[in-house]
Amino acid sequence: MSYLPAENRYDKMKYHRCGKSGLLLPAISLGLWHNFGEVDTMENCRALIRRAFDLGITHFDLANNYGPPPGSAELTFGRILKTDLAGYRDELIISSKAGYPMWNGPYGDWGSKKSLIASLDQSLKRIGIDYVDIFYSHRPDPDTPLEETMGALDLAVRQGKALYAGISNYAPEQAGGAAVILKQLGTPCLIHQPKYSMLNRWIEDGLLDVLEDEGIGCIPFTPLAQGLLTDRYMNGIPEDSRAAKSWGFLKRDTVTDKLVEKLRSLNMIAGKRGQTLAQMALAWILKDPRITSVLIGASRVEQIEQNVATLDYLEFSDDELARIDKILAQD
Ligand code: NDP
Repeated sequence: MSYLPAENRYDKMKYHRCGKSGLLLPAISLGLWHNFGEVDTMENCRALIRRAFDLGITHFDLANNYGPPPGSAELTFGRILKTDLAGYRDELIISSKAGYPMWNGPYGDWGSKKSLIASLDQSLKRIGIDYVDIFYSHRPDPDTPLEETMGALDLAVRQGKALYAGISNYAPEQAGGAAVILKQLGTPCLIHQPKYSMLNRWIEDGLLDVLEDEGIGCIPFTPLAQGLLTDRYMNGIPEDSRAAKSWGFLKRDTVTDKLVEKLRSLNMIAGKRGQTLAQMALAWILKDPRITSVLIGASRVEQIEQNVATLDYLEFSDDELARIDKILAQD
């Protein structure tokens, strides 16, 4: 069936400036790490992308290796772009990354110029576009000079294959170093994509300060800890959940009784706020003005709808924050 995007798609979504750049990103963005591979059904993938776009989600995040198999999420997105969103490229921010294992031999991994530029060319072909909006170094490479990796991002921008450069999984000092080099090259670092959620608060310890000082945006990934910070696992592991899938990155043994107890306590606070745990977990991240967008994943349309409805209530009282901190600090 042909698709016409909702006319009111920009009515409710909030858009935040990404660091000190000119780019606005939606408060909630959609990532295609899981649920968009060859193992997933195309009809569900289409439904997810359509609903997201209808709700004002303009930013879709990919990487060379998303699937499984690696590369298939970019192929899926490319097909949907062609069938449903062909006329809307200028309303979309599409990102991709390179830095994790992708193809055999010494050039299919890490952060050399050879690897990054070859990978970006492959991603563009798979998605079927001339340029990505953001191209990331997916992780720092301990054996490649930072100047070379940042030089590759700068080259991608100069070649017109990417509009902006980003980094992901860089520690505070590495991010600071990358920012200086990119500034010197004339391609300022747009954005950092770190892991961050109520269950993993490492970026509060220095990274957010560096990003603010350097005028770099921040888009945390796995904000729901891959689904743990939702009502998904309150009563066991559902068969259709990520933790139950053989190819997912969330393992069954992560769902311990102790963790579920913590999630239940958090869920009680969320309930008193009139929110689901997922909504509270997203609002909790968005309360920091240094956060540009939260990068969610979803396996169903209703999850996207529920997560976007988070924006209806973002405020926290001091008492709520203190109670949440206390629960999170428990071993
Ligand atoms: P989340 O933490 O948002 O987890 C998404 C999962 O949570 C969904 O698949 C679903 O699980 C569950 N979920 C989402 N919303 C709800 C809801 N309202 N109620 C109940 N369950 C819900 O993010 P992801 O782990 O998917 O990561 C998001 C994106 O971050 C990725 O797609 C990718 O773009 C990026 N990323 C980047 C990395 C990097 O190194 N730069 C690494 C990892 C991710 P279920 O499938 O069980 O229904």
